[in-house]
Amino acid sequence: MNIITNFEKIKQEIKNNLLHRDTKVIAVSKTFSLEHIMPLVQYGHKDFGENKVQEAEKKWTALKKTTNTLNLHMIGRLQSNKAKKAVEIFDYIHSLDNEKLAKELSKRQKEKEKSLGYFIQINLGSEEQKGGLEINDLKNFYDYCSKELSLSVLGLMAIPPNDKNPEKHFKKISELNKQFNFEHLSIGMSNDYLQAIKYGASHVRIGSAIFGSRN
Ligand SMILES: *Cc1c(COP(=O)(O)O)cnc(C)c1O
Repeated sequence: MNIITNFEKIKQEIKNNLLHRDTKVIAVSKTFSLEHIMPLVQYGHKDFGENKVQEAEKKWTALKKTTNTLNLHMIGRLQSNKAKKAVEIFDYIHSLDNEKLAKELSKRQKEKEKSLGYFIQINLGSEEQKGGLEINDLKNFYDYCSKELSLSVLGLMAIPPNDKNPEKHFKKISELNKQFNFEHLSIGMSNDYLQAIKYGASHVRIGSAIFGSRN
């Protein structure tokens, strides 16, 4: 398996299927060692995704100091007691979904004089085991984050329910994203990124199709 070949194939497929905008590939490196990921870093790719603060910190802190163009994206559930560390290591948070967390992130990024980019995660299927905000709460939450806390909210993020019909869910989140005039939309993973692009994904989060299967 060659990571660069996988990555280039995905980039080409995306390019061939793009409707109207450029789409960023976040290479989801969770569970993989830095050694395994390194060829893609050296290849010049800048955007990587992790789902645990501690793992990201261990893996990326030293490299981020020497390669300051790297963008790290937090794509997993984030507890507010980890907000301080998250602000230090990450550049984007894709899992913003509650006021306590938003408030803590706002406080910590002020302390650090750092401004992260945020995606509000929506729980499209109201699934208990998944993070994310209910659609009905979006308006109030967005106002709170953007007006009261001055967080830079770029768009919505979702992980669709695993019901073999991602398009239905992508359509729904894409419409919601438009209603709020967001510029960015974080949807699509290894199995469904081409469908996600059809619905305007600006960021696809791809792990196993690049790095191989996770144990
Ligand atoms: C792990 C993960 C991905 C990548 O999943 P693949 O199927 O390996 O592409 C994308 N988004 C989130 C939120 C994840 O946790």
